[in-house]
Amino acid sequence: MYELIDGKTISMDIKNEVKEEVKMLNAQGKKVSLAVILVGNDPASAVYVGNKKKACEYTGIESVSYELEENISQEELLSLIDKLNKQDDINGILVQLPLPKHIDEDAVIKAIAPEKDVDGFHPQSVGALSIGQKGYVSCTPAGIIELLKRSNVDIEGKECVVVGRSNIVGKPMALLLLRENGTVTVCHSRTKDLKEVTKRADILVVAIGKPKFITKEYVKEGAVVIDVGIHRNENNKLCGDVDFDDVAPITSKITPVPGGVGPMTIAMLMKNCVEGAK
Ligand code: NDP
Repeated sequence: MYELIDGKTISMDIKNEVKEEVKMLNAQGKKVSLAVILVGNDPASAVYVGNKKKACEYTGIESVSYELEENISQEELLSLIDKLNKQDDINGILVQLPLPKHIDEDAVIKAIAPEKDVDGFHPQSVGALSIGQKGYVSCTPAGIIELLKRSNVDIEGKECVVVGRSNIVGKPMALLLLRENGTVTVCHSRTKDLKEVTKRADILVVAIGKPKFITKEYVKEGAVVIDVGIHRNENNKLCGDVDFDDVAPITSKITPVPGGVGPMTIAMLMKNCVEGAK
């Protein structure tokens, strides 16, 4: 019988830990604050930003919100970031992605001071992760490590397979599993025989962006499966990159969608903010 990895409960535990740390910092006269920048009217981005603000409220982190017009120029956005970089009362800066097409996302990410880069997307943060130095780590993969550890999954020495090599999930995920002494393989759209590789995994992390792509033919009996994908199915219900009903029975542990990886991303963002303030 498989076990569900409960992201809802684990993320709540993390938010409660953050709340305690914020209280302690406040008692020492230190505030924790996050600047959240939203450009344009993308409804999904507005929901994500709203959820981040709610999490800030819950944990006692002050959020300062900047809602900018869709047609703001790149220069104006960069100058706001520059101003926030210099403000001592701001610990973290988050620019909600994606940005409108006329703005160069890479330039915006690079403009955020690495010590305020709570999303962990700055090249310096990514470089630090790859050479084992301190720095912010992208929230979704950092959350997956927490999910594994807090569900008593040993990573050391395990065959870990990551499907997907995006800059925000797949690549940092692989680096973090390596840092935990896993034996790591990264797969992508050019991988020749995906099933053959994924079937080797003791820990399989799937971030492909294709609904219910991974069926039981891709999974070794007893594996731990982490599903990063989020999609709406034909009935408008949330589902992941893994076909849960097909795969779950042969796993030892698996994350559900919703209630698995999803809630961890914001919890880790809160954790990053408090680490920054410390
Ligand atoms: P991207 O689209 O940036 O990356 C997808 C990756 O999957 C690419 O590396 C691509 O390979 C690989 N891929 C695509 N098709 C195949 C295939 N047939 N076989 C093997 N590999 C394949 O997605 P993200 O990493 O940004 O996101 C992945 C999923 O996770 C999405 O559903 C997204 O919504 C979700 N997500 C969830 C988060 C959460 O908080 N739970 C946070 C972030 C994302 P190649 O590089 O060769 O193109």
